[in-house]
Amino acid sequence: MPPSIGRNRLKLHVLLAYRAGPALQGARHVTTATETRKFEAEVAQVLHLVTHSLYSHKEIFLRELVSNASDACDKLRFEAIGKPELLGGEGELHIEVSWDKAARTITVRDNGIGMDRDEVVANIGSIASSGTRRFLEALGSEQKADARLIGQFGVGFYSAFVVADRVTLLTRRAGSAPEAGVKWESDGRGEYTLEPATVPERGTTVVLHLKEGEDEFLDGWKLRSLIRKYSDHIAFPIRMPGETAGKEGGEAGPGWETVNDASALWTRPKHEISDEEYRSFYKSLGQDFNDPAAWTHNRVEGNQNFTTLLYLPSQVPFDLLMGGRDERKGLKLYIKRVFIMDAAQELLPQYLRFVRGVVDSDDLPLNVSREILQQNRQLERIRGACVKRVLDLIEKLSREEPEKFAAFLKAFGNTLKEGIAEDPPNRERIARLLRFASTRGEGAAQTVSLDDYIGRMAPGQGAIWYVTAESHAAAAGSPQLEAFRAKGIEVLLMYDRIDEWMVSHLREYAGKPLRHIAKGELPLDEAEKKKQEEATEAARPLLERLKRLLGERVEEVRVSARLTDSPSCLALDEYAMAPHLVRLLREAGQPVPESRPTLEINPQHALVRRLEATADDAQATDLALLLLEQAELTAGAQLADPAAFVQRVNRLLAA
Ligand code: ADP
Ligand code: MG
Repeated sequence: MPPSIGRNRLKLHVLLAYRAGPALQGARHVTTATETRKFEAEVAQVLHLVTHSLYSHKEIFLRELVSNASDACDKLRFEAIGKPELLGGEGELHIEVSWDKAARTITVRDNGIGMDRDEVVANIGSIASSGTRRFLEALGSEQKADARLIGQFGVGFYSAFVVADRVTLLTRRAGSAPEAGVKWESDGRGEYTLEPATVPERGTTVVLHLKEGEDEFLDGWKLRSLIRKYSDHIAFPIRMPGETAGKEGGEAGPGWETVNDASALWTRPKHEISDEEYRSFYKSLGQDFNDPAAWTHNRVEGNQNFTTLLYLPSQVPFDLLMGGRDERKGLKLYIKRVFIMDAAQELLPQYLRFVRGVVDSDDLPLNVSREILQQNRQLERIRGACVKRVLDLIEKLSREEPEKFAAFLKAFGNTLKEGIAEDPPNRERIARLLRFASTRGEGAAQTVSLDDYIGRMAPGQGAIWYVTAESHAAAAGSPQLEAFRAKGIEVLLMYDRIDEWMVSHLREYAGKPLRHIAKGELPLDEAEKKKQEEATEAARPLLERLKRLLGERVEEVRVSARLTDSPSCLALDEYAMAPHLVRLLREAGQPVPESRPTLEINPQHALVRRLEATADDAQATDLALLLLEQAELTAGAQLADPAAFVQRVNRLLAA
């Protein structure tokens, strides 16, 4: 189709939309009447789940609303860098939490950025983030889910409906007139109303009308303890009516007091911060309500001054599990205590995308944009420091807390392996952290490091040997292992999908080459070489016959030095792709270079002997193909013709 047709279609579309416009626009721009709208289908679904399935940890609604208020203050502070007048008039950015026992309401208010009408519709009535679908998927399977889940998916606002059957939101965008305010209200059952409102102060007020039975939250002590528990590290003051202001918290009197810590934790000296504070700060970063596995907090002073506080999660966060590599969150960039942006992409390489935390620079310009960041030399140095700190931290964990380290590797080991290819300067450091199953270990759980392996290499063993396969069982069952077992040489068993790709970038470690047991020639000593040559000489007629019988299916047939018990195996080219991988790629519809395998046989094996003794070429062909197909199967390749294979086996069994 020529491109012009597509473009005309598009034009037509725009034209139609425009014609239909007046009616639509009429609805959208009436600013004097109350308008009732339906939630987007997905929001309605989220709300349904929230009100019907979330039972435990209901109290997180407060954390979510306070977190939104804090985001709103962050956003205003950031916008005010270029437009200081936005901050005018109203003093310090802060958050207020109050309650009214008689009206049975809880109110969370901030003097942050606020929203205009379109923003309310876009941010509250519909769902921009892709988190929603994931939230629905994650929750759809569980009957009574934990409300703590909600904040991780960018749907935190709706947690209000866990405890409230009506929510009223009043908001005014910073910089606009009081009459330009908006009132939004909903019972969370599919519809909401919007109407213009006069809002005297900028920012957002959220009023929760509590459901029956949720009165425990109408209590200053309770609310205060929840703020201390979940929101202590919010960097803006959270104020509540003080003891002096009377029992009821509805009246904004003179007696407001700050109930949270409100300092940016990372700016305080390390020795003054308790582990508990570090942990709760981690949780306040959002996304993960579990304790972190470890953290590292550092201040760099010199040419450039910056602070890093970096955490390793203890479990795979949802965004890493379900999200692509492109939506990365979790590392916040601050400049002189002002939150600038989530800059995980700029501050950490992909293979460390599980890291969470804060970087605060004293030197970067406050008006920095993402584009500028990407080629900023100072940032380059901060990034280098972050990578170093994280690798130091993982090393420390491996030395000092083996159990936590094992859990960490289980969760993030495969992500870390990407670094072998992605970060050549740190390749050796990353490789040192990896653990592999081995022929010395019992089962998949017992793993070794490359250093362990080298430490117990046999005398004269020049290489680190490994095999790749699709599963631990397939790797441990590789026929090529037989000769290594016989000689007592340890072999690493690699069976994660990423391993084949990873080792192709890890040609050596600590000066020792890494070699696949099925690839290339095995190093043999003089005696073995001699034996091998004699065996080949003796088997010459058999080898030639096999090559003739198998024809185009094989590149070459030779006597194996790798086998003791099995009749046959495949030998691969030094740079050939492992057969199980070829199969996976084919299944995924990827182009795979065609290559013919080399078949190795064990002349001592009864099956090979039987072939040798079979004069009938038809039956010998069955046996020859079986030798090849067995070898292909154990290597994880796909049979070219499974039906023919089965018929062949049956013919031989019945013979
Ligand atoms: P998230 O905070 O992860 O984006 P939420 O469901 O908590 O998801 O909030 C949705 C959006 O609503 C926010 O991204 C923000 O744009 C808007 N919002 C919520 N609360 C406020 C507030 N107090 N001030 C300004 N905007 C807000
Ligand atoms: Mg939120």
